Amino acid sequence: MVTPEGGGGVGHRILVIGAGVMGTGITTLALRHGVSVTLVDTSEAILAAARTRIAAELRMAQLVAGPAETDPGVLDTATSALPAIGGADAVIEAVVEDASVKADVLATVSAAAPGTPIITNTSSIPVDELADAVKRPEDLLGTHFMNPSYVIPTVEVIRGPRSGEAAMAAVAELLAVLGRKPIVVKDAPGFVTSRLLHPMINDAARIVREGTASAEDVDALMTGCLGHPTGPLRTADLIGIDNLVDALSVLHKRTGDERSRPCDLLLGMVRDGHHGRKTGRGFYDYE
Ligand code: NAD
Repeated sequence: MVTPEGGGGVGHRILVIGAGVMGTGITTLALRHGVSVTLVDTSEAILAAARTRIAAELRMAQLVAGPAETDPGVLDTATSALPAIGGADAVIEAVVEDASVKADVLATVSAAAPGTPIITNTSSIPVDELADAVKRPEDLLGTHFMNPSYVIPTVEVIRGPRSGEAAMAAVAELLAVLGRKPIVVKDAPGFVTSRLLHPMINDAARIVREGTASAEDVDALMTGCLGHPTGPLRTADLIGIDNLVDALSVLHKRTGDERSRPCDLLLGMVRDGHHGRKTGRGFYDYE
């Protein structure tokens, strides 16, 4: 079990599965707080790119949040979760927003390490939909770390109807080590934050599509008039347009809310490979 006093990277190890935007951000956060990480993805090429991003994120985190207070954790990478699972205090699954892909990953890790707390990091999929895939549903709960995880201080924690006390307590302790404030909510499609944020971003994209205003002007109005830290379309680029569309589709399917039906502009951007920051082009261009 992870304890706040520990740190130092020895004896505190988590397994993070999925080395994309969120997997690398969560890894950066953990390393900065002295928690060692085994980061898993499907290929060495993805893991090499993730290592490069993590090095850059560690520098960025230092600029934004100041020097780390503990010795950094140790980073390992692997193309299979199984060899490292025995030594992990917790597993964080951060693969693509696809319930069947997540269910496969969760089934594998839970069969290998019953009793280890398993966290699914999802934007929209109800935790209980994934609980049938795991050996002990009480080991599973959800988090919705925001991006960039090494900067945002609050984490939405989703308690599924079958999530157990021991797993909830272990994850509360892990978040304390990571210096994050948990807000625990009940299980529902999109929970609180995506239920509110994603339809708004979808509407902002519709506004651009309809020609009412440019992306720059939509964002300037939301920041300048309403005090949002970044506008919805810059946020969309940060999230990743592909991930945004996946999460909107989950919301639309599960709630029937037409505001969540991914709009044509977003679908076209996904088809054209304009996935936001991670591909260098979205509503804005990036170097
Ligand atoms: P991403 O597309 O950037 O990365 C997903 C990674 O998962 C990829 O590197 C992919 O190769 C890997 N992957 C796919 N199948 C795998 C498997 N079977 N085993 C191991 N790795 C596998 O996605 P992301 O933006 O990092 O999102 C990850 C999760 O976090 C999603 O569920 C998403 O909804 C959620 N989330 C995303 C954000 C955000 O801002 N992007 C915020 C909060 C939550």
